[in-house]
Amino acid sequence: DLRPVARALLSVSDKTGLVEFARALDAQGVELVSTGGTRKALADAGLAVKDIADLTHFPEMMDGRLKTLHPKVHGGLLAIRENPEHEAAMLAHDIRPIDLLVVNLYPFEATLAKGAPFEECVENIDIGGPAMIRAASKNHNDVAVVVDPEDYAAVAAELAANKGATTLATRKRLAQKAFARTAAYDAAISNWLAGELREEAPAWRAIGGKLALPMRYGENPHQAAGFYITGDKRPGVATARQLQGKQLSYNNMNDTDAAFECVAEFDPARTAAVAIIKHANPCGVAEGATLEEAYVKALRCDPVSAFGGIVALNRRLDAAAARKIVEVFTEVIIAPDADEEAIALVAARKNLRLLLTGGAPDPRAPGLTFRSVAGGFLAQSRDNAVVDDMALGVVTKRAPTERELADLKFAFRVAKHVKSNAIVYARDGATVGIGAGQMSRVDSSRIAAHKAGEAAKAAGLAESLAIGSVVASDAFFPFPDGLLAAAEAGATAVIQPGGSVNDKDVIAAADEAGLAMVVTGVRHFRH
Ligand code: 5GP
Repeated sequence: DLRPVARALLSVSDKTGLVEFARALDAQGVELVSTGGTRKALADAGLAVKDIADLTHFPEMMDGRLKTLHPKVHGGLLAIRENPEHEAAMLAHDIRPIDLLVVNLYPFEATLAKGAPFEECVENIDIGGPAMIRAASKNHNDVAVVVDPEDYAAVAAELAANKGATTLATRKRLAQKAFARTAAYDAAISNWLAGELREEAPAWRAIGGKLALPMRYGENPHQAAGFYITGDKRPGVATARQLQGKQLSYNNMNDTDAAFECVAEFDPARTAAVAIIKHANPCGVAEGATLEEAYVKALRCDPVSAFGGIVALNRRLDAAAARKIVEVFTEVIIAPDADEEAIALVAARKNLRLLLTGGAPDPRAPGLTFRSVAGGFLAQSRDNAVVDDMALGVVTKRAPTERELADLKFAFRVAKHVKSNAIVYARDGATVGIGAGQMSRVDSSRIAAHKAGEAAKAAGLAESLAIGSVVASDAFFPFPDGLLAAAEAGATAVIQPGGSVNDKDVIAAADEAGLAMVVTGVRHFRH
């Protein structure tokens, strides 16, 4: 299995650790051959290194597009050692074996990420590098290939331990990594071109935001996407530090933003709070004495939807909460901060992304939001109205009890972050049924009530969680029907903006059903 390394070809764009590694090779008596920039770096460090042209008798040309694409290079990489035919061919054409290939590619991804012009991106598509990597990887039975400076030390140690030879196990592992690298490289190029093919690409560049993260795709795989930042430093997805997990997708980003903005409604000095989000809508929000308690309560609201969701916390993530969260398949956790122990617990789930923001955005802060329409975009100030600041008016004969009032405020706080028409049932500082995004308020009411029944079933309870709950509506009830659906489901108190021309009828219906109702005077449409 051992293959001695007599000759190495080094051609790297990222010169990190290069000289040190080449010295280790030199110490083993390995002959070094290099391309232009790499050769210069090695020669400058005092190493004896041959120019690739001495091998090929062909100059580098066409701005480096042709450097190593030559039978003397590829023959040396592809020839099977101890194969008589291959040996005869090498002899006949003066091809000498290359036993070790050290290549890292033109920095295509980095060039793209810095927002370079099209032509510069094209020039950073490496051709000879991947060709050599693939040749050496195919022939890993005889040839070792190193594509990552992180592997230099291990390979040098192996050579030192085996009198200048590599083992098959290492060559195989290196080949696997090498093919993964060329595959990822080509995928990045292809995705970039797919984006460029779209007509809106030039428009994106004109928006003026700074491209912070090119994305593999948008809401759907056939849509190109990127994350642009405005320079706003508020804590959130744009400024968060990602500790682990895959790169955030377009949908992750959108949902994580929704989750964190929602949980930021809860003052961490008053209570711990957790929001679980799916498709930009909360599927469970709760307060608690601890984050663990809040998470368990939030999860109970809709454990089915929480699968693959985003979890946002308003306080420093602790181990007790982390332990519970990692039990459920979760895409992203976002929190102001996290304990060491919590970080270690999350680390056990390799793909789970952990984002730390350093703080929470102020729900009362001014700001702007945008959405595109054909031929332009709409801008508006952020919905920074907070229920604590609203003058709540009791319009029914019965006033809410203290417990009801606390839950009413809780429910309205959550309703602000639910797509319209929003109906939120809540009880004891937790949502128990959420109806989102319906075209009719009655449908949202029914869905929310249905959800409360499902949550009870999932928890093994006979009675719907809506019984004894309160209900919030993001906008007024145009008719008594939506309100009556809530009363029928078991809600005892209602919070809503009021202001319908039918308010009198709605209030009369509430009185008749024995409901307590407060109006906020503020609407929380969200589309
Ligand atoms: P150097 O800095 O040594 O001049 O260039 C090193 C880079 O050139 C490496 O990233 C390597 O992958 C790349 N490279 C090597 N041979 C070729 C080739 O024939 N064509 C192209 N386009 N790139 C090559």
